Amino acid sequence: MSHTITLIPGDGIGPEVADATKRALQASGARITWEVHNAGAEVAEQRGTTLPPEVLESIRRNKVALKGPIGTPIGKGFKSVNVTLRQELDLYSNVRPIRSLPGVEPRFEGTDIVIVRENTEDLYAGLELMIMPGVAQSIKLITEKCCRRICEYAFQYAERMNRKRVTVVHKANIMKLSDGLLLETFRQVAQGHPRIEPAEVIVDACAMQFVRNANKLDVIVTENLYGDILSDLGAGLVGGLGIVPGANIGSDAAVFEAVHGSAPDIAGKGIANPTALIQSAVMMLHHLKEHEAGAKIERALQHVYGEQAARTTDLGGTLTTKQFTDALCNAIAVA
Ligand code: ATP
Repeated sequence: MSHTITLIPGDGIGPEVADATKRALQASGARITWEVHNAGAEVAEQRGTTLPPEVLESIRRNKVALKGPIGTPIGKGFKSVNVTLRQELDLYSNVRPIRSLPGVEPRFEGTDIVIVRENTEDLYAGLELMIMPGVAQSIKLITEKCCRRICEYAFQYAERMNRKRVTVVHKANIMKLSDGLLLETFRQVAQGHPRIEPAEVIVDACAMQFVRNANKLDVIVTENLYGDILSDLGAGLVGGLGIVPGANIGSDAAVFEAVHGSAPDIAGKGIANPTALIQSAVMMLHHLKEHEAGAKIERALQHVYGEQAARTTDLGGTLTTKQFTDALCNAIAVA
């Protein structure tokens, strides 16, 4: 079966890593027709908006998108495309697998956890005000509805992916009402999923556990801000921004994207590491139930990072984006 997918190459290194990703998917045998749309800082110059309406229409129609990094012009009144997409499409669940690749950060070899981050509320609801000169207030908004759907998502994900445990990360000892609501809802939802072991950890203790014994956490479910911070910590453990993938999932649409930004410092040089977007595309293939194509790319990544020790410059190697992608595509062909 062929899938029509919205592709937003994005800004900076986006087009380079998007090209590499298209090549890897083609080599995997997945049948995909790309509907390419531009969004971001460069589009804003011509169109006066970072997110032209046809981009949203395309994602609503196709239900699945692959997105490169998108910059937000600073100080020009533009809203972040990433935040707008999450809000408009109600992509409430941000899934970030933190998984090491062979030989990259050997101190954390074998790390395999998944962060499921609530994507729509918490301190990101944008409810800020100056109460009086010199006194600012940010409102941390937590609702039972959003706690319930993110906890449900995390338990269902754990069941589907044959994981053992879901750990809720919170600070309910201090924020008894808001984080307390997440904790209470988590306990209720856990009762409906007896095959999965529920666990609870306070966010500061969780940060220590990340560098001591992260795998014990297994699947993490947490609020927006804690999830944001822990995701970058996790990326650091397994080799940095060049390799960590992500997905934004809602009830009606899903947008797959790398965790990294547009990396203007290396844009156009042909040296970006495409692994993060390629791994995001692997998540997309599994979402589309193209498991064989996804598994092929996963096996090929293990091979090029392991036996071939192929590395782009961000990981201390010498390969260009094209050379790395050539090696990967050759490995996919025989995976
Ligand atoms: P933005 O404003 O779009 O978030 P940024 O430069 O602030 O961009 P990132 O794009 O995430 O943030 O980059 C942080 C650092 O990591 C930069 O030095 C960048 O070159 C490097 N980097 C990020 N992604 C990659 C990648 N895929 N390959 C190689 N280096 C990367």
